[in-house]
Amino acid sequence: MIYAWQQTAFEKLHLAWKQNRLPHALLLSGPIGMGKRAFSNHLISLLLCENPRSNGEACGHCKSCHLLQNNNHPDFMSVEAVESGQIKIEQNLKKGDSPQIREAVEFCNLTSNYGKHKIVQICPAEGMNRNAANALLKTLEEPPEKTLLILICHRKMQLLPTIRSRCQVIDFSRPDSQLTKTYLNQELKNNNIDPELLLYLSNGAPLAALSLAEKWEVRNVVFQDFKLLLSTKEEPLNLAENWSKQEIKQLLAWLISWTEDLIRIKLMTQHIFNQDLADTLFKISEQFQLQTLLAILDVELESWRILLGTSNVRPQGLLETITIQWFQAAKGQFK
Ligand SMILES: [Zn+2]
Repeated sequence: MIYAWQQTAFEKLHLAWKQNRLPHALLLSGPIGMGKRAFSNHLISLLLCENPRSNGEACGHCKSCHLLQNNNHPDFMSVEAVESGQIKIEQNLKKGDSPQIREAVEFCNLTSNYGKHKIVQICPAEGMNRNAANALLKTLEEPPEKTLLILICHRKMQLLPTIRSRCQVIDFSRPDSQLTKTYLNQELKNNNIDPELLLYLSNGAPLAALSLAEKWEVRNVVFQDFKLLLSTKEEPLNLAENWSKQEIKQLLAWLISWTEDLIRIKLMTQHIFNQDLADTLFKISEQFQLQTLLAILDVELESWRILLGTSNVRPQGLLETITIQWFQAAKGQFK
């Protein structure tokens, strides 16, 4: 589907397609939660559909539409990260792994089965390691006819400039705030959380804001736990065990965001992110030295890197390291 804040970008592409001047490589760029994948899927179904509607929608009923709905279209390939979070050149021979770049390049050189486009979607494009990115360059420079590469990228700065410069960038990082607020208000219905705060905490990404609203209660419980830990009323190992039952990436992202806010307060920065927690964060900040907060942030960021880099990690172990650091810092024993 096309969300309200994507409409203009889509209409431009739709027009380019009708006039036969669609670029051969698109880079859909913006933070997670902007609906980039939905945008990509909508475009792919339109380009492959045998009876597309004049408003830019696929018919949903033709053979191509059915094949696509069943993830079985011979003219479409999706390249996803493997376990390590990377996209590589070669596919592991493990069952169920997504095709990688070499297979995508070979796919581009084949003739289309249905006479329409051949489309490769790569997500997240910044997940391509250097070898994989280099292997893709030639196809990006001299794409075979009727080939479309769609690169979906959450962190544009992590993408090689040589890749970036060969794509037409569709930037979703600054959506119209009125449109995103309206959308969020509609979706939240009876919720009493401030949509502006949700958007603010989610880099302005409406779908991420919506997902945060669903986790709002959990976030508040975790913050209460965090306060108990810092008042040394909660044992770090107990807490780590409790927390390990939560979605670890989300929990760690919250901890990092609170720690960063504590550091901002120490540095007397005007803006902190977690505005709803401001009073408590200001009080907590008085308890710690800036150096201590920076050292703990390092530990949390290291855990984050470990978490992104491998799937064989024991969340409870990472959380134990972090909760022990906070506990010792609160007791004044942090080294
Ligand atoms: Zn169709």
